[in-house]
Amino acid sequence: MIYSTKCSGGFASANNVSRETFRFAGVISFDVTYMTKTYDVIVIGGGHAGCEAAGASARLGARTVLITHSFSTVGVMSCNPAIGGLGKGHLVREIDALDGLMGRVADEAGIQFRLLNRSRGPAVRGPRAQVDRSIYKSAMQREISLIPRLDFLEAEVAGLVVRNREIHGVTLADASVVTAASVVITTGTFLRGVMHIGSSMAAGGRVGAPASRSLSESMLSHGFALARLKTGTPPRLDGRTIDYSDLAPQLGDSSPEPFSYLTPQISRPQVPCFVTATTQATHDVINANLHRSAMFSGAIKGRGPRYCPSIEDKVTRFADRGSHQIFLEPEGLDDFTVYPNGVSTSLPEEIQAQFIRTIPGLERVRILTPGYAIEYDHIDPRELTRGLQTKRVTGLFLAGQINGTTGYEEAAAQGLLAGINAARVAGNQDETHLTRDISYIGVMVDDLVTKGVTEPYRMFTSRAEYRLSLRADNADQRLTALGVDLGCVSPLRAESYRVKTEELSALRGMLKAIRLSPQEFSKRGIEVNRDGVQRSLYEVLSRPDLSYADMARAFPEIARSEPRIAELVETDAKYDVYLKRQAADLSRLREAEQQVIPSDFDYEGLPGLSNEVKQRLTIVRPSTVAHAGRIEGVTPAAATIIVAALRSNRFGSTTRGAAE
Ligand code: FAD
Repeated sequence: MIYSTKCSGGFASANNVSRETFRFAGVISFDVTYMTKTYDVIVIGGGHAGCEAAGASARLGARTVLITHSFSTVGVMSCNPAIGGLGKGHLVREIDALDGLMGRVADEAGIQFRLLNRSRGPAVRGPRAQVDRSIYKSAMQREISLIPRLDFLEAEVAGLVVRNREIHGVTLADASVVTAASVVITTGTFLRGVMHIGSSMAAGGRVGAPASRSLSESMLSHGFALARLKTGTPPRLDGRTIDYSDLAPQLGDSSPEPFSYLTPQISRPQVPCFVTATTQATHDVINANLHRSAMFSGAIKGRGPRYCPSIEDKVTRFADRGSHQIFLEPEGLDDFTVYPNGVSTSLPEEIQAQFIRTIPGLERVRILTPGYAIEYDHIDPRELTRGLQTKRVTGLFLAGQINGTTGYEEAAAQGLLAGINAARVAGNQDETHLTRDISYIGVMVDDLVTKGVTEPYRMFTSRAEYRLSLRADNADQRLTALGVDLGCVSPLRAESYRVKTEELSALRGMLKAIRLSPQEFSKRGIEVNRDGVQRSLYEVLSRPDLSYADMARAFPEIARSEPRIAELVETDAKYDVYLKRQAADLSRLREAEQQVIPSDFDYEGLPGLSNEVKQRLTIVRPSTVAHAGRIEGVTPAAATIIVAALRSNRFGSTTRGAAE
């Protein structure tokens, strides 16, 4: 066991020798003499959730220890070398707004930045970056080791110390104990993890890492029900054996946009990805060997991520499609490893080699590491409060994959919230909650704790009913002030936020204060409806055909504003009218929540619902709109479609009150 105590802060005086009887894994009771080390907060696991949890807790002032198998694996990306994307990029910006680590680290490691959905409205644009795996890991290790009040312990946590339904600490594999007022578990895919390649199975949390058995047993002994989920990863390829000559490159943005509000610009060289696709020959090999895939042979019981299906899944579920796109993503600047995004698999190694070589560009490719599937324990997130504390054991928090989510960003966002609350509860303060109207973090946590999961949960913008106001470009405006109040934001960020907010409000104020008649606008070269009504520059800027640059040409007094401030104010002005519509739609939805849905309601015939949602609604047959909204996968947008159909009187429109 190795303790690293970089910081002073009363750590040594917290050691003492105790003798105590405790229950281990609920099976045996025994007396032990052990060294105790006392903290305010213990975080178990140095993955994406664990780093944010430990960082947030220490920033709040709690003496925190991060206990993980090995410090050298802190910041490891188990699967794809990328951060962000649609919905996920919003989460990274929110983490950054609360001074979390992921955004800054991804900016440092990013080797190809793209703003997804650039041609669509700002609300659904998602920042994404390919990152250099090794730079990401070392930058995360450096950032986290600079945080004051945070210690590190390399050890395996074997069990929880719980008395009278209150957490008191953890036991380690060597039977020593670390005590704390709060504990955050962020063990990812490690709890009773089993890796599958074809018919071979091996215990492990991910390739090259041990599984955690005793912690699962300890959780079971304290009454937590555990269920199984699965996920998978593709083989890694030797880029030197790929023939790129006929493959289309996919370039990043010419001016990369950082994730973090504190990163002035991206300076690292940017590299392309390449696009290829499966062929009929690929599908033939896969179809002929489906019985040898761990996922299809019945060896894996847990459900996998629907939105990140294995290639076996794609070939069978979309049998009519002759080809599936694959992105060849570089794993680093000085690394020839390539990640083929789109072919995660649990077929035997030799079949992986066969099918991969039927793909254009990969005819002579060498596989460096085979793909595999992993099955692991998770808890039912309905066991949690909105602060991610278990209802069963006070002071025990859970974050990340253990709560049934998938993805680095989802894990990190939960870790941040759990870390904040673990520190608050350790300091005898109430939990803080993030609501759906101010954050995607709030949407995710609310979905998890109210709907639970039957398959790995990942973030999409469609999950948010307030998505027009929850833009990736305004996460700091939504959350940083709250972060300052909570005490988890550094003085540097607080000051930069203050300056930016003042600039935004000054420009907004100026645009609202200048009011002109249609004739006066016309004299400046801007035509508005000649109705004699005075309008502000802000109102006129809401028009889609008029840009801030057009406005600044006509009104030189606003031309000197900083471009990033002008762009934000322009987006706010353009969204103003939609936000009013969003508020009206939501209030109609709230009013309609008690509306009864007839038991023979035809979900199949309802345009606008995905097949997945239709299926779930048809199985559950919810009694009211509110009930429909609580079904896993039924988004607010789907609920609005049902309300509209009920309103159109095709099925009558009784309310529960009227029906009873
Ligand atoms: P992890 O990043 O897994 O970190 C867990 C940490 O806990 C590790 O540091 C581990 O050492 C530590 N730990 C565990 N048990 C103990 C213990 N008892 N004592 C001390 N330390 C402990 N995500 C996607 O979005 N898309 C994908 O396609 C995808 N595919 C994946 C495929 C595979 C094979 C794997 C393994 C993961 C995949 N993921 C995918 C998931 C992604 O890696 C996770 O969502 C993310 O890493 C979860 O973060 P986390 O912090 O919850 O856990």
